[in-house]
Amino acid sequence: MIETDYLIVGQGIAGTLISHELIKRGKTVLHVDRGHKNSSSSVAAGVVNPITGRRFVLKSDFLQLKVKALQVYAELEELLQIQLVQHLPMIRILRNEDEVKRWEERKEDPDFSTHVGDFPKDSFLSEVLKIKGNSVAIKAAFKLNVSDLVACYRNLLDVNKLIIEEEFDFSALSINLENCNYKGIQAPKIVFCEGAKIVQNPYFNFIPMQPSKGQALIVELPVEKLPYMINAGLIIVPEGDNRYWVGTANKWKYEDEIAEDELEKRLESKLRSLVGCDFKVISSAAAIRPGIKDRMPVMGAHPENDNLLVFNGLGTKGSSLGPLWAAHFVDFLSGDIEKLNSKVSIERFL
Ligand SMILES: Cc1cc2nc3c(=O)[nH]c(=O)nc-3n(C[C@H](O)[C@H](O)[C@H](O)COP(=O)(O)OP(=O)(O)OC[C@H]3O[C@@H](n4cnc5c(N)ncnc54)[C@H](O)[C@@H]3O)c2cc1C
Repeated sequence: MIETDYLIVGQGIAGTLISHELIKRGKTVLHVDRGHKNSSSSVAAGVVNPITGRRFVLKSDFLQLKVKALQVYAELEELLQIQLVQHLPMIRILRNEDEVKRWEERKEDPDFSTHVGDFPKDSFLSEVLKIKGNSVAIKAAFKLNVSDLVACYRNLLDVNKLIIEEEFDFSALSINLENCNYKGIQAPKIVFCEGAKIVQNPYFNFIPMQPSKGQALIVELPVEKLPYMINAGLIIVPEGDNRYWVGTANKWKYEDEIAEDELEKRLESKLRSLVGCDFKVISSAAAIRPGIKDRMPVMGAHPENDNLLVFNGLGTKGSSLGPLWAAHFVDFLSGDIEKLNSKVSIERFL
């Protein structure tokens, strides 16, 4: 019999952050993960951007999320001995007069203007990529290397024999008042962090998920290591050398998480109409984002069985929402706070 304080099902960014917070508080963990196959965290660009959408909305809790995220990612960089965070401004291309006007209006707001700056087009944008339109900079943006984070954390778990690679088998789970038992593992608590696969979890499938499929390309562009990211409807993110992540094409109705030719073509044609240079598509990958309608994470215990816990709903913003809310959940589990914030508690769905 193996004993652990927490059995964690799933080791995407959600499971990784919960694991890290629990270990920091002296708890023991053991993960079960089916091998990250098409996991959202393996496909994500990891962009953290305070200002999004056509209306240039500034997230009100951005500073709080960013401070916590940078603190936690620095701890993980130290633990894993890799670079996870790159401070790259997001260059926003304003494609018409309306956008220019709206941007100028938004800049009147001092909260908004502290995050942004001018960005006169440089030679990469105007001569190599030949992107048209005015450009401005969102200085506070950064990029998390999510796929390296989950892969390297997984290696560390592996070395310490703290991860089992398999599909979690619900028929092998038995629960009594004190403990959960799963294939010879005994744990007082199980935390389910399965991302979009939560819809197949018999205990938590009542949570009203609103998952969406996203697909991205890895392409080669004729410019090396661009020192910024670009948002021009499509997002272009440097991945090293002359490789770039380009995304996303989205679908609300889909059959599976497999990359589709149709979405790849959609991305290619959008990129072709954006840049005036040649590019080569290297690969294409898709995954399902674990979103919820109110765009907030969900955490807490099963209403009838408090051995069973959930941490999910990171949606389109796992890299920014994850650290603050994982720490909040573990504060609650450790008894450091009495109640979960009602915006993220599972109680909003009971
Ligand atoms: C194309 C795309 C681009 C994105 N870009 C960004 C971005 O730029 N910035 C950002 O912040 N977010 C982005 N996201 C969203 C981000 O990826 C998610 O918020 C985040 O990865 C969700 O993490 P998760 O751990 O909840 O889920 P996942 O990463 O999907 O992890 C779930 C894990 O659980 C495991 N699992 C599931 N079910 C079982 C089971 N039954 N048994 C065993 N293991 C199981 C899976 O193997 C997987 O490893 C993007 C998403 C997509 C699809």
